[in-house]
Amino acid sequence: MTRQEFNEMQAAVLRTESRRALIVVAAGAVVVLAVVLTIKPLLGYIEEHAMDWIGYVKPYGFKGVLGFFVFALTLLVWSVRPPKGVPCPNCHKPIFGIAARLLRITGNCSHCGERILSA
Ligand SMILES: [Zn+2]
Repeated sequence: MTRQEFNEMQAAVLRTESRRALIVVAAGAVVVLAVVLTIKPLLGYIEEHAMDWIGYVKPYGFKGVLGFFVFALTLLVWSVRPPKGVPCPNCHKPIFGIAARLLRITGNCSHCGERILSA
């Protein structure tokens, strides 16, 4: 492939990656908003009515908070996984970051050493 083709393919990959990052941020904002909007009125309602099922609800509240953190952690792990790059035509490993810079300089794949860029 040519340098131009590689640049276009990488731009396409970066576009999908930034879209994914936007989804992660939006999903995180929705989760935070949902927790803020539902927990406060629920706790206020429970305290206001002094219901005797508080002891029953509290462990679920704890589990809910725990579940939220597990969900948030999953979201975080999903969001920080290594970005996908343009696959090498020879070894099919993703080329991104420093590997992409090396490819632009040398024209060779930094994984397998094969010449990729023709011009
Ligand atoms: Zn390769």
